[in-house]
Amino acid sequence: MLPMFWDDTHHALAESTQRWVNRHISPHAAQWEEDGLFDRGLYRAAGAAGILGVTYPEAVGGAGGDVLHGLIVGEALVRGGSVGTAMGLGSHAISLPAILALGSAAQKARWAPSILSGEQIACLGITEPGTGSDVAGIITRAVRDGDHYIVNGAKTFITSGCRADVAVVAVRTGPERHAGVSLMVIERGTPGFTTGKPLKKMGWWASDTGELFFEDCRVPAENLLGGEGAGFLGIMANFVTERLLLACTCVAMAKLALEAAEVYVKERTAFGRPLEGFQVTRHRLAEMATREAAARAFVSVIAERFRRGEEVTAEVAMVKNTAVEACSFVTDAAVQIFGGMGYMRESLVERLYRDARLFPIGGGTTEIMRELISRRR
Ligand SMILES: Cc1cc2nc3c(=O)[nH]c(=O)nc-3n(C[C@H](O)[C@H](O)[C@H](O)COP(=O)(O)OP(=O)(O)OC[C@H]3O[C@@H](n4cnc5c(N)ncnc54)[C@H](O)[C@@H]3O)c2cc1C
Repeated sequence: MLPMFWDDTHHALAESTQRWVNRHISPHAAQWEEDGLFDRGLYRAAGAAGILGVTYPEAVGGAGGDVLHGLIVGEALVRGGSVGTAMGLGSHAISLPAILALGSAAQKARWAPSILSGEQIACLGITEPGTGSDVAGIITRAVRDGDHYIVNGAKTFITSGCRADVAVVAVRTGPERHAGVSLMVIERGTPGFTTGKPLKKMGWWASDTGELFFEDCRVPAENLLGGEGAGFLGIMANFVTERLLLACTCVAMAKLALEAAEVYVKERTAFGRPLEGFQVTRHRLAEMATREAAARAFVSVIAERFRRGEEVTAEVAMVKNTAVEACSFVTDAAVQIFGGMGYMRESLVERLYRDARLFPIGGGTTEIMRELISRRR
């Protein structure tokens, strides 16, 4: 992100995280992508380095940083060259906030420190086979039975779903569309809770994307977060931070693709000159750089306004769509500059192009973002 709002702690974090990524992710990124999974030990290593907990309160094992610290870590992780690894490693960033927003002191103490140290992997299960954007349409049911809930239903497309130890799951506890939604923590090993095989997908290969199944699953009532009907509050509590992080990821990917293209146009020759000798190539690079810079500036300014406590829900939706567009354009243009080599698996730009396609869909689709923008004051 633009360093204009950074203090010394932000600069130091940017440097130390990049060093950590260069050592722990970059050398393995291509292999993990081909394997379809990154090494589980990375969670513990990231926890020990303070990377997982950077924006969380010290009281629960975090470093107490602000949103800019979080975006700095987010960009550094993407620069490791495997977006799938960055997304899988960060699956706690969409699940833990609900525990912190709604959970009791005992619940926070029970799950947060082990998630932030990387001992336990956390995921968020909202999307179901029958509904995604329409969160209030979920049908996974939780029915109270003494000091347990009996949960029946299924979740799909869940990041870290196959190997998560702790799933924060949206369930229906009442008939009302929004007010009938609750969140509860369902732990691996709970009777009636199973997971499917990793889903095969277009991009993000190194991240596990899975299905969760609940069949008469007996969940202790003490795992309910914030009482029945509080689920929507918990889900909404993290929307702004999640979308800023996704926008930052898109900008970081655009930057990587731009950098790769800038190197390639100097090396590759056609018709007796380097590609950069053609005006059309230089103009393509100019447009790529412009879109990346504009998106970067927009994310940085809105993140800073959020840090200062301003209400920026609609602006963050604009930021997400802007960054997603920039990322799609730049990664596509980079593949074009690389020609046939841009279509080959060994090219970083080929992977970035595939990875980019998720962002208009995940974390709220482009259409849902426009819906939010249209409701602004
Ligand atoms: C790799 C990956 C990782 C994911 N990780 C997670 C995760 O960790 N946890 C989780 O819970 N989910 C996760 N998801 C699911 C993701 O959040 C959903 O796919 C997304 O919210 C869209 O929901 P959907 O797929 O059901 O599409 P739908 O909601 O069915 O939408 C289909 C199309 O209709 C459009 N549409 C829907 N409603 C409207 C409307 N009101 N106005 C205009 N257009 C509309 C959409 O924009 C879209 O173009 C993940 C998905 C993927 C692919």
